[in-house]
Amino acid sequence: MSTATPRNSSNGTNGGHSPGKRVKVIVVGAGFAGMTAVIECQRRGMDVILVEKYTNSAEYGDIIDFFANAGRIVDAWDNGKVADRLLDICITKAKWMQMLKHTGEAVHRDPWYLKPEHFRYQYAGQRGAMWKIFRDYAEELGVEMHFGVGVVDYFETVDETGVVLADGTRITGDCVLAGDGPKSLARQKVLKLEDKKTNSGYAIFRSYFEATEEFREHPLLQEYLNPDEDTIKFWIGPDSHMLAYSWQGGSKVVWVFFHPDKEDIGESWSESADKSSVLNYIDSIGFNDECRAIVELTPPGRVIDFKLVWRDPLETWLSPGSRIALIGDAAHCHLPTSGQGGSQAMEDAATAAICLEKAKGDVPLALKVMERIRFNRSHITHQAGMQIRDIWHQNPWEHVEHDPEKIALARGDWILDFDAVKTAEENFERLAEDVRSGKKGTLPELSLPAGGVYDDIRNK
Ligand SMILES: Cc1cc2nc3c(=O)[nH]c(=O)nc-3n(C[C@H](O)[C@H](O)[C@H](O)COP(=O)(O)OP(=O)(O)OC[C@H]3O[C@@H](n4cnc5c(N)ncnc54)[C@H](O)[C@@H]3O)c2cc1C
Repeated sequence: MSTATPRNSSNGTNGGHSPGKRVKVIVVGAGFAGMTAVIECQRRGMDVILVEKYTNSAEYGDIIDFFANAGRIVDAWDNGKVADRLLDICITKAKWMQMLKHTGEAVHRDPWYLKPEHFRYQYAGQRGAMWKIFRDYAEELGVEMHFGVGVVDYFETVDETGVVLADGTRITGDCVLAGDGPKSLARQKVLKLEDKKTNSGYAIFRSYFEATEEFREHPLLQEYLNPDEDTIKFWIGPDSHMLAYSWQGGSKVVWVFFHPDKEDIGESWSESADKSSVLNYIDSIGFNDECRAIVELTPPGRVIDFKLVWRDPLETWLSPGSRIALIGDAAHCHLPTSGQGGSQAMEDAATAAICLEKAKGDVPLALKVMERIRFNRSHITHQAGMQIRDIWHQNPWEHVEHDPEKIALARGDWILDFDAVKTAEENFERLAEDVRSGKKGTLPELSLPAGGVYDDIRNK
């Protein structure tokens, strides 16, 4: 990356941006961080350009969960119509998440909606179909979107910033929001960090399909075909777990199998796997016949193997001149066991848009405040991914049988009842004053408190 702005040279001065001019925001990556960023910035009157290297990322993925802290952001879009579209395709008829021992004994039932008002804000569904609803809404808003060409470099001077695309095109704007995911190039080019990934020691087999005739006829799988109640089952075994979901009467079935894997640290949403590898784990660990039947009756070619990689939290998400910010998994790569990766990505994006609006063209000020609003909270949910996994995998059964809520999905009030938009609006001015006055301290000290601690996520 080329830069003419030394780190921290700006205490939030607007460096050349004329007041009244529309801020031009370049968003890199059309994941849920990037899509939320373009929607929120466009709705707030900015000029927005999205650049995504995939031609069509709707083709990939199986299930993704967004909880109420993310759903509250979506529900404000188009008078709730985007939320309505999501609810049409997502799980809406589940009462419980059934928690079982891998051998099949029921241990605990966790309510799927912790509070009635969460129904409107909680979306679990097929990632590609959900992503398409975000993309369609961005299109309706008139966002300029470029798919199929990736960013290869970033640049930043005192009063402008931008990206270079693989075809050599340079795009210049006032601000870049880099939502380029776990393998973020922005982390390397902008923050000058090597990709310090470590094998988490685990991988997930994942699958999404429509129940086949054979699946529908299997006596152990009848529960998955109920048109009146969606199914969510969660089996925990030694150092492994399996989840199965079905909704819309079995027209949508997803399972994920989380297992130890020390092999390599590739990460891809299209790395196919053989069912026999999954069945080997199922048989050797001793998962029950229902789990075996689900995997066995998965249509051919529908299993992927996703290696889980751990990346430590970053010390900052901002470029030297604070015109480029990393958001979403690029900034804090959550493990799936956190249950919060997508939701935290959306919180980042909405916060960035509000700060850009409130800073009235002073991009460095906006992004510094954004980082201070988001830093501590996302840090806790990021770390929780490892802690939750260990609770599930390393809790001896005698403890779980004594206190089954130990293994309930971690969803504290301070996580789910959080309003990212209100928080940004209410805290912007005070934190902006800290930036302007050059208040001293480490980033965690200068940032908003996380709002809770990890134990609160687990013990509601
Ligand atoms: C294709 C895909 C399928 C997924 N499926 C699931 C799933 O089924 N279940 C689940 O829980 N999570 C899934 N995830 C991950 C999940 O969506 C994220 O962890 C979470 O939503 C945070 O989103 P993000 O936008 O920060 O990152 P991501 O969702 O990873 O999005 C990053 C985006 O940036 C793009 N990108 C990367 N580098 C560049 C570049 N140099 N130039 C331009 N664009 C670039 C990527 O192609 C990607 O679209 C998937 C992610 C992807 C990309």
